[in-house]
Amino acid sequence: VLPVLVTTSFILMCSDRIRLQWERAASTDYLTGLPNRRTLAHHAEKLFSAASRLCSPLTVAIFDIDDFKRINDTYGHDVGDQALQHIADILSAGAGTGTMVARTGGEEFVMLFDICPDDRIEELRQAVAATPFKIDRASIPITVSVGVATYSAEDREFSDLLRRADRALYTAKSGGRNRVETSGIMAASV
Ligand code: GH3
Ligand code: MG
Ligand code: MG
Repeated sequence: VLPVLVTTSFILMCSDRIRLQWERAASTDYLTGLPNRRTLAHHAEKLFSAASRLCSPLTVAIFDIDDFKRINDTYGHDVGDQALQHIADILSAGAGTGTMVARTGGEEFVMLFDICPDDRIEELRQAVAATPFKIDRASIPITVSVGVATYSAEDREFSDLLRRADRALYTAKSGGRNRVETSGIMAASV
């Protein structure tokens, strides 16, 4: 009986480890180790529900690297990957508690604040602009454009809030990049 028990526990232990590894792979971005879009969406639903039921604060900020294609074209895809990691490090270091930062797409990161972010988003933009990515002898300046939206009663679901942040991001890009733009509804409700 003993060998059977030992073998069974060993198999269970292994399958548990495999399950944990699989769950981790499914919830994080392979390059930066940040939560991925799926994890963000899950967390966002919870925060959105709290915001609509309990009026708790919720702000979403989309950070998109400016002219990232140029970095890839100039230095190669591997350096581009390292530049993404560099930006991920700056954003996660500055995110603070109560803030999720996720990599949601190629060169796009989303932050979810369940507190009022005050000047934090503008400070992060400045931190990125002030911290060039250094590799070998090159110092590569990188900037981000940011679109921000804060929950308002007009948002029916999280995607409404995200859409407003995305429109604000578009305004930041067309306004010249390296800037933060906030969705109009937030500005009106402050
Ligand atoms: P904009 O300022 O308008 O955002 O310009 P952009 O060049 O940043 O945006 P665009 O959408 O034209 O290009 C994004 C580039 O990001 C193109 C794509 O090859 C690159 N990219 C996406 N994912 C990765 C990745 O995982 N690694 C690397 N190195 N590049 C990536
Ligand atoms: Mg983009
Ligand atoms: Mg970009």
